[in-house]
Amino acid sequence: MKLRLGVFKFTGCTGCQMEFLRLEDKLPELLELIDIVYWPMVTTKQWVGDLDLAFVEGSVSTPRELREIKEIRRRSKALVAFGDCAVTGCIPSIRNFMTQREAEKMVYPYPEWVESIGLRAVNEYVDVDVSLPGCPPHRNSILETVKAMILKRRPRLRQHPVCIECKLKDNSCLLTDEGQPCMGPVTCAGCGAICPTLNRVCEGCYGPMSASNAQSHAKILMETGLSKDDIRLRFRKYAGWTTEFQKQAE
Ligand code: SF4
Repeated sequence: MKLRLGVFKFTGCTGCQMEFLRLEDKLPELLELIDIVYWPMVTTKQWVGDLDLAFVEGSVSTPRELREIKEIRRRSKALVAFGDCAVTGCIPSIRNFMTQREAEKMVYPYPEWVESIGLRAVNEYVDVDVSLPGCPPHRNSILETVKAMILKRRPRLRQHPVCIECKLKDNSCLLTDEGQPCMGPVTCAGCGAICPTLNRVCEGCYGPMSASNAQSHAKILMETGLSKDDIRLRFRKYAGWTTEFQKQAE
């Protein structure tokens, strides 16, 4: 029997869903094994019945999203927090560092019409079976997650830092060799070290790696010449609301 899949969008930019669609060469094979029951970006089908697998992109930031995430959890056997917005809050979580009203005023001409709540990762409200980090997650890790769910096993997602992927590519280290403020040592791998391979520092878009030492890395970033404010913003940008980075982001 085919796996019944639903893909949902909360507060985010839709980039994670776009990356899912980048699996276009694999989709014909996948569609032999999965049935897309609900995915407003690709089908007009309405959501009927329960799901085997729900991919939830985006964070929870409105009362409507809060109601919906509980409903999705109730009706899904497995729930994947799909991408950094769902896993950590990602860039939208920057707004948590100001008051709700300040953030609303900055964006909307009539903030009194806006109904929003503090922005949170999905796992702050419901149990999550798989956290798939990345802004967006690489298509290979999306494929690995779907395959694992079909095979009823845990997906093999990386927990180590971007530095390992950098070394495997034989890149010279931007941090130690060139003194550039790279976030690779505290950032979860999975991207294939795209930025350092192109001679750009890692910005931290996969969020904290397992057991990251943010405090120590903040000291190292200071040695590269970054100001305290710059370091704060660097930790805040993608994962400032996580327990791992929150102290450095404040
Ligand atoms: Fe967009 Fe990144 Fe959020 Fe995905 S994780 S929805 S790509 S901002």
